[in-house]
Amino acid sequence: MAKVELKGIGKVYDGNVRAVDNANIVVEDQEFVVFVGPSGCGKSTTLRMVAGLEDITEGELYIDGELMNDVPPKDRNIAMVFQNYALYPHMSVYDNMAFGLKIRKTDKAEIERRVNEAARILDIEKLLDRKPKALSGGQRQRVAVGRAIVRNPKVFLFDEPLSNLDAKLRVQMRAEISDLHHRLKATMIYVTHDQIEAMTMSDKIVVMKDGKIQQIGSPLYLYNHPINKFVAGFIGSPPMNFLTVKIVEKGGKLIADEGSFEMTPTEDQAKTLKSYIGKEVSFGIRPEDLVYTKTPTPNNNMQMKISVIEPLGAETHLHLNTKTQSVIAITAPDNKFQIGDTANFTPQMEKAKFFDRETDLTICEVVKSE
Ligand code: ADP
Repeated sequence: MAKVELKGIGKVYDGNVRAVDNANIVVEDQEFVVFVGPSGCGKSTTLRMVAGLEDITEGELYIDGELMNDVPPKDRNIAMVFQNYALYPHMSVYDNMAFGLKIRKTDKAEIERRVNEAARILDIEKLLDRKPKALSGGQRQRVAVGRAIVRNPKVFLFDEPLSNLDAKLRVQMRAEISDLHHRLKATMIYVTHDQIEAMTMSDKIVVMKDGKIQQIGSPLYLYNHPINKFVAGFIGSPPMNFLTVKIVEKGGKLIADEGSFEMTPTEDQAKTLKSYIGKEVSFGIRPEDLVYTKTPTPNNNMQMKISVIEPLGAETHLHLNTKTQSVIAITAPDNKFQIGDTANFTPQMEKAKFFDRETDLTICEVVKSE
């Protein structure tokens, strides 16, 4: 059992750098939670406060209901896997994995049992005699994870563990860590700037920006119900398109006017957009929610010029320009397009989002934080 709770946690570094502000997070027992956000948003600092590697400036940290603020790292029953692996170069894989147990004076036979078990789980049994320099990046990462497993910790913490691996290996290790989570049934907190890692691995995502939590929720909840423009643009790939549009009333109906074309909000959207008549808002539409049509859809057509064609095999990405703005759309690979062509797209309005231009908050829907 290991539940981790952050209550109003904040961090101010020397020199008055505020790295984290009022973080409230509950990581349930056996949950895989990812902290995600751009570089410098405070995710590593938050993780390091959980590990005990940074002092907590404000707030309270609980593990299984016990206040941890002043408990030294070695007594928190936590194991951390770092981006740079932090392996001892002069020690064999076996000794690297055994080291933490040796300094805790664990019985020799027990150390052997745990190292062999971890090596079996990670499929590195044949590498136990090697030194780290004789290992590939992926193997080193496995050893670093192995060193955490042998400790049998209550909580695993990962700080960008896959950043140093090439793209193919990252995809493989991503799946391995997810698999490990299911097998060990451990509580895991994982820090990354990569939203794809966050989406694919987590039960729950904590999106951070400028030291502040923006939203917490399951991957699909955040994808479908982003609380603001930042979360909307951060979750999803290629990212959501944003177009500035003016809300106008025409013949008793609300219209979102882009300048080059007009779109018709759904009835529900129109109700909330009423207070924006005459104002500009940000219209958000994901590339996958722009549907190519040969003939324009009445009242809801985006006619745009193709500037770039990116065939990816399973799908093709089109970069499209309105008179003043640009978007990306995903289309089927078999459409024959030419650069410079004009093409019609129907935005799936029920999936579209509108954002207030001043607050960046989502308009038209009540979104929860969890
Ligand atoms: P992330 O992990 O999201 O990239 P960090 O938690 O590392 O972000 O950093 C958050 C902010 O705190 C940044 O502005 C960073 O420059 C600052 N920071 C991090 N470590 C220190 C430190 N030891 N001293 C002063 N400022 C720091």
